[in-house]
Amino acid sequence: MTPLAHRIRTLISRDGAMPVERFMALCLGDPDHGYYMNRDPFGRAGDFITAPEVSQMFGELIAMWCIDFWRRLSAPEPLRLVELGPGRGTLMTDLVRAAGKVVPAFAAACDIHLVDTSPALREVQQRTLAGVGIAARWHDRLEKCPTGPSIVIANEFFDALPIRQYARTADGWRERGVTVGADNRFCFTTLPGPVDPAAIPGTIAGAATGAIFERSPAAAQVIADLAKRFSADPGIALIIDYGPGRSGHGETLQALSGHRPAGVLERPGAVDLTAHVDFEYLIGLGRQHGLEAHGPVPQGVFLNALGLAARVETLSNGTDGATRRAIASAAERLAGGQQMGQHFKVIMITSHGAPVPEPFASAP
Ligand code: SAH
Repeated sequence: MTPLAHRIRTLISRDGAMPVERFMALCLGDPDHGYYMNRDPFGRAGDFITAPEVSQMFGELIAMWCIDFWRRLSAPEPLRLVELGPGRGTLMTDLVRAAGKVVPAFAAACDIHLVDTSPALREVQQRTLAGVGIAARWHDRLEKCPTGPSIVIANEFFDALPIRQYARTADGWRERGVTVGADNRFCFTTLPGPVDPAAIPGTIAGAATGAIFERSPAAAQVIADLAKRFSADPGIALIIDYGPGRSGHGETLQALSGHRPAGVLERPGAVDLTAHVDFEYLIGLGRQHGLEAHGPVPQGVFLNALGLAARVETLSNGTDGATRRAIASAAERLAGGQQMGQHFKVIMITSHGAPVPEPFASAP
């Protein structure tokens, strides 16, 4: 049993069943035993691989996107370049390196802020950035980043935010929780008492018994924090993650361990837990706050519009056959229809009246 499993059992025997939201928050963020708190989960030897870890082209193309938007904003100085959940710091490093080569004035204008709650990953990020001479500051919340015009980037960040789950029972909607079953293992249960009807959208409320509906209050908080930033200064958030384009019901909480699906309730704190991102919900929240939103578009469409094919060409020039094949296969992985290119989606949320970003600005 993991140390966190012990702790969760103790909490359940003291307080009763635990909301799924609290379970997920502990699994990922418990200061002593949370999944992200003391490990580097990325790469071949880890549990999963993300787009910046697949290829430097991901960060390089996002650099071009940033430069374009910065120019449309009339090139403010300083520009707060903020990344939420930067993992190993790979995306930021590739971005700044590529931007510095093409438009040094942009790199010089950037004041970099990284938002991460994991001490272990912050250490990795510090090492990565310092290794290439990039100065940055760290925060545990977006709210703590200084004000000013900003670009906020979040790749595979929202999927790691805890979700609340609701289950449609014969007696109506109930919040879902985790308890200890007769076999002494963790199992799902429903928490007593009705839920606030406002929590379930009208389009979902009539779903059949057994349906599960998920919402992330933590994601809503991030959008509220963005709205606060963008009410004072112009800015844009680039959000890339996986999930459906339209809201719906269905259980998407999932666990990964060593690149394989694992039991969500097994080995708390030792496996990665994520849930699909509800882009329609995030966009709706942004608009309620008076922001503007674009997308979703599939990641492949976004990267191709930014010039992925040309980037593959340039990188491949003068290299041997094996390197060329590796570059082509990374591009396929990032943008291909069967892979991240289709499953991952991109949305952009901007301050009211901000310029329209690429690829939407040049859409026919
Ligand atoms: N963007 C990176 C890593 C994605 S993994 C990449 O694409 O490779 C999720 C990242 O979010 C990790 O760095 C993790 O430590 C961080 N994180 C998770 N929950 C967080 C929270 N509530 N606040 C800030 N950072 C968080």
